[in-house]
Amino acid sequence: MPSCIVCHLSIDESTDSIFKCESGHTVHKFCLAEWLMHSHSCPLCSEPYPKSLIDQFKDYKEKKEQEEKAALEKELEKESIKKMEEVAEKIVFLKLIESIENLIEEEKYNEAIDKLLDEYNENAINDGNLNVLFLLGKANFLKGRFDLAINFLFKLVKIRFDYPDGFLYLGKAYERIGLKDKAQWAYDRISERK
Ligand SMILES: [Zn+2]
Ligand SMILES: [Zn+2]
Repeated sequence: MPSCIVCHLSIDESTDSIFKCESGHTVHKFCLAEWLMHSHSCPLCSEPYPKSLIDQFKDYKEKKEQEEKAALEKELEKESIKKMEEVAEKIVFLKLIESIENLIEEEKYNEAIDKLLDEYNENAINDGNLNVLFLLGKANFLKGRFDLAINFLFKLVKIRFDYPDGFLYLGKAYERIGLKDKAQWAYDRISERK
């Protein structure tokens, strides 16, 4: 029983369609259909297959290429939907931050802090969450809760050293509770970055 040079399994000539290159290398019909997607020569001897044989698989190749194209388009569509969702989410988040900054400006610190705590995620270290952490520090500082402000701001600058405003409010909070050395340490971190 001959074997297929692509899949190496035996070919049952009574049931399988069999194809041969000019040197007589045998191959399953399905295996040849797949192989012709990549090359028009015998995988073993590199002898080009006759055009008449290749033409027999033309429809298969076209169908397969169309399927691949459709799958790719579907994938791209999925990706663009995901991107759009991400942008929408970001806009909602930026609006929320803006509304919280307004509350802080209007000296509605408790309201701002409640909203920030709803949004705060202890385990996330993305820009959005660090922004929330900063505003938690700032709002608590302005409210006069210097201990809480230090708590939040220290967490922030531990994650992101390059956060001058974080160090600024951290310094101010240390200053207000009389820790001059620590305040100076925080202020020094700001000038280092400039
Ligand atoms: Zn095969
Ligand atoms: Zn061959």
